[in-house]
Amino acid sequence: MDCDSAPRFAELIDAVRKVATDVAAPQAADVDAKARFPIETLAALREYHVLSAAVPRELGGAGCTMEELAQLCSTLGQSCGSSAMVLAMHYIQLACIARHGMESDYFRGYLRDLVKRQYLLASMTSENGTFGDTRSSICAVRRSNGGFQLDKDATTGSYCAHSDAILVTCRKDEDAARSDQVLVLVKREDCTLSQTTSWDTLGMRGTCSPGFKLESHGAEEQVLPVPYADISAQTMVPYSHILWASLWWGIAAGAVNKAANFVRGQARQNPGTTPPTANRLAEVLVQLQVMKQNWVSAARDFDALGDEREPLAGMGWALRLNNLKIASSEAAPQIVHRALQIVGILGYKNDSPFSLGRHYRDALSGSLMISNERIGAKNASMLLVTKELV
Ligand SMILES: Cc1cc2nc3c(=O)[nH]c(=O)nc-3n(C[C@H](O)[C@H](O)[C@H](O)COP(=O)(O)OP(=O)(O)OC[C@H]3O[C@@H](n4cnc5c(N)ncnc54)[C@H](O)[C@@H]3O)c2cc1C
Repeated sequence: MDCDSAPRFAELIDAVRKVATDVAAPQAADVDAKARFPIETLAALREYHVLSAAVPRELGGAGCTMEELAQLCSTLGQSCGSSAMVLAMHYIQLACIARHGMESDYFRGYLRDLVKRQYLLASMTSENGTFGDTRSSICAVRRSNGGFQLDKDATTGSYCAHSDAILVTCRKDEDAARSDQVLVLVKREDCTLSQTTSWDTLGMRGTCSPGFKLESHGAEEQVLPVPYADISAQTMVPYSHILWASLWWGIAAGAVNKAANFVRGQARQNPGTTPPTANRLAEVLVQLQVMKQNWVSAARDFDALGDEREPLAGMGWALRLNNLKIASSEAAPQIVHRALQIVGILGYKNDSPFSLGRHYRDALSGSLMISNERIGAKNASMLLVTKELV
């Protein structure tokens, strides 16, 4: 696909709406019940070239902005939270390459291939022994004769078994400190994955995220040529917190939509009266709107930075992005809870068209996905030294 024939955002959002309604929504209950990967949804996203939305146009992708990517994730999230999380995590990895690998012929070529073949990228930041601290690694990449070897014992690896490549954090060499990390692109055909734990979770079951032992090798040029510290501050954290917030909002919006349908049904049964549940629906919409404004404004301000990356390394942005993550992951289950109070027992039942169990369980993952306590502790230490209160 060349630059001119790459789909524009308007086409992509139409495609994602269609995939969300026609494919993701009807499969969501089965994906959740069986904790299986949403293969049909990913196949449809590939068909519409949605997986290359974050690739720059000069390399054949759609060159979508952060706000546009967030809209794609939030749209899919309204139908299937797991599918939207897979799409968001893929975009986060893709952005790391597109923003930090463009000087490398290898990575430019890889992104061109990704557009053609619609590769799916997964992530391995977690590691046994570092707990939830993504800025710390025990494993190290070993380089020799233009190649590398890398082994990692990851606690959680979403859809790694279904991906085409995994971006893996590690120490830059065997003498490096735990925080002196790099990011390595590991191709699925160059690695073995031994599953170490199960993924029978409350929610986000379709992300298929058990622990894995990874053994891999490849060419040295697959190591991104900048420190992970920069990639993390300038790309991994902003993309993660904004795109996660957008899809958590999507889950909450999906629940509120069900509640709205329920209330309209009640109103139709008694024409001319406003059911009491309509007031509660109006109230929860306020919270849903506030939640949306938080990620939309962060995405717009991020896009307004353009090529300027320095501010992202500052405490002002770090605090703002952390606050977005904490606020959104707390708001999503609260909103679903309020939707459940509106719908009542039909929302509590698993086999009703108004069932909200999956939304509730999916939304609970947000505060654990990089623990809010851990992020809050980082904020607390930043507040001791900065006067930049967002
Ligand atoms: C749906 C989902 C998908 C995921 N996908 C991936 C993936 O693809 N790749 C990947 O690498 N990882 C993935 N993860 C893992 C995730 O990003 C975190 O690394 C992991 O959830 C952290 O595990 P933890 O809660 O045991 O660790 P910790 O963060 O260590 O938390 C353990 C406990 O310690 C507390 N705690 C930790 N630090 C502090 C502190 N400073 N102050 C106070 N309390 C603290 C926490 O509150 C918590 O109670 C995924 C997680 C989820 C939920």
